[in-house]
Amino acid sequence: MLQMVDLKTQYQELKPEIEQELQEVLDSCMFIGGPKVNQFREGLEQYLGVKHVIPCANGTDALQIAMMALGLKPGDEVIVPAFTFIATAEVIGLLGLKPVMCDVNPDTMNVSIKEIEAVLTPNTKAIVPVHLFGQCSDMAPIMELAEKHGLYVIEDNAQAIGADYTGFAGKKVKAGTIGHIGCTSFFPSKNLGCYGDGGAVMTNDDELAAKCRVVANHGQSRQYYHDEIGVNSRLDAFQAVVLNAKLKRLDKYNEARNMAADYYDREFSKIPALKVPGREPNSTHVFHQYTTQIKTDNPSGTREKLKTWLNERGIPMMIYYPVPLHKQKAFAPFWSGGSLPVTEALCESVFSIPMHSELDEDTLAQITDGVTSFFKNLS
Ligand SMILES: *Cc1c(COP(=O)(O)O)cnc(C)c1O
Repeated sequence: MLQMVDLKTQYQELKPEIEQELQEVLDSCMFIGGPKVNQFREGLEQYLGVKHVIPCANGTDALQIAMMALGLKPGDEVIVPAFTFIATAEVIGLLGLKPVMCDVNPDTMNVSIKEIEAVLTPNTKAIVPVHLFGQCSDMAPIMELAEKHGLYVIEDNAQAIGADYTGFAGKKVKAGTIGHIGCTSFFPSKNLGCYGDGGAVMTNDDELAAKCRVVANHGQSRQYYHDEIGVNSRLDAFQAVVLNAKLKRLDKYNEARNMAADYYDREFSKIPALKVPGREPNSTHVFHQYTTQIKTDNPSGTREKLKTWLNERGIPMMIYYPVPLHKQKAFAPFWSGGSLPVTEALCESVFSIPMHSELDEDTLAQITDGVTSFFKNLS
């Protein structure tokens, strides 16, 4: 069976470099923070062109730290797309804020101001655009809307690290550095993944950065003096070693993902029952996932059969995401009914196939032949 993500092959190339540095960490016994973490923080700041990166324990923590640092208060409304991973909205609920789920664009699967404006109220305090599957939401209009209404923008950039946004008169800026604050995850399967858990918050705002450091470190600005309730969230040196090695290669990895996406696009655009992923006009795509929509009368039924067909041929297939946030049991208290038709249709019709930096032509051919033969057989 092929893998959705092939970390083993990727590791072979990193092995000598990583193993030597991991040994250095073992010898130094500096397991939390220390020079490897500092090196990574500085490297990422430079790569992203952002003033501050604050490493933390995972992407969910990054979102929580961001929202705590912004001083959001219980009852404040925070807008999130309903078509995303649970973590985006989970921390909103956890902090006693009110997640307000909105629909997404059917072509790009990201939020745009149209969907945000539909749920905006006088109690809205923040927006969390998710750069879903690897491309930036159209941030320029979102920032303009936020400024007009005095809202904070927190980018959930767990899936689009390395993507360039060009919506500000063509000027290139990196995903995650556009809003007031950006959050990312280094979960192993992400584009920049470590070998455990990791995450980071990023911002150009000095004050906000200082606040994030305090929040992430037990609410202390000076050791054993705690000015507020914080959390404990930090990146360890082993993870920083892996991240240092992969950060150097991130652009190359993202290029390889784009080559695979081009191959998929070319083959799948020949299949009338499929819609290849739409592109944001103002963003490059780093293809955290390659996610296609099925356009038959009964997409979820077709999808079920496709999964069986592919699995029989050693090809995995995943559904990101099968249940919209507003239909999750955990969010029932926050949902007053009604529907978000685009999100609901996407949950019924999307499927994702292997996407990573190690896909070669033979593997791509095997995967696309599997999908193509299924749809030939169907008609
Ligand atoms: C992975 C992910 C997260 C959470 O990251 P963790 O490191 O797993 O906590 C948040 N949002 C999105 C969109 C993600 O894909």
